[in-house]
Amino acid sequence: MARVAAALERHLGTPRQKKLLPPPLAMLVATILSQNTSDKNSHRAYRELRRRFPGWRLVAEAHPSAVRAAIRIGGMANQKAPRIQKVLKSLRDRYGRYTLGPLRKMSDQEVIHNLTGLDGVGIKTAACVLLFSLGRDVFPVDTHVHRLCNRLGLVRHCPTPEKTFEAMRDLIPVGRGYSLHTNMIRFGRKVCRSASPACERCPLFDECVYSGKGRRTVIPRRSSAVDHEFMLLDNVEG
Ligand code: SF4
Repeated sequence: MARVAAALERHLGTPRQKKLLPPPLAMLVATILSQNTSDKNSHRAYRELRRRFPGWRLVAEAHPSAVRAAIRIGGMANQKAPRIQKVLKSLRDRYGRYTLGPLRKMSDQEVIHNLTGLDGVGIKTAACVLLFSLGRDVFPVDTHVHRLCNRLGLVRHCPTPEKTFEAMRDLIPVGRGYSLHTNMIRFGRKVCRSASPACERCPLFDECVYSGKGRRTVIPRRSSAVDHEFMLLDNVEG
């Protein structure tokens, strides 16, 4: 694990998390919007939602069609709009207001338990709130990170991202959750893509146990800083 983390940092740099992180409810909504769409489109959807409804109560009480219209650019608006409104109403019932502030005092496990108790919120989303809003040292696993962990042999017999998340929890070097997650996302976009991995220039070629891996034909060079790709969850405004 440490070899993989070090190789990714050599190739892609060491990502540093911002000091000022968005509130957990903003992150939760942004993460719901990010499901099954590009980061750029979900960022547009998030910004449009906040522009049209500058308060969570306004989102919760809006006509569903108005919320759908605001987030349409992010795709799956028919599913995401009611999910967001339902989450907001659950929080109002639970805390008497639209907030996830009480999470700040909870342990990682309590936060996961608390968030996954909301309809439509899974472990990946809860882990994103932990990392990108609460600044905890966790390693969220989506389908892309799950694919990479399997190809690199970091986990065995983990059929789902949820199982991979559990298996990886004890493997992540202390303090490296953010860096490793971010570099895994970058690596999955630039090199180890789902359908056409660029094995010929892979800096982790020797670590890879994937049966479908290709041949290495060029020496991998360090990616330049301009290769940095936009990540929604690093750019959520409260
Ligand atoms: S060798 Fe190919 S399949 Fe293996 S990690 Fe590298 S890019 Fe992915």
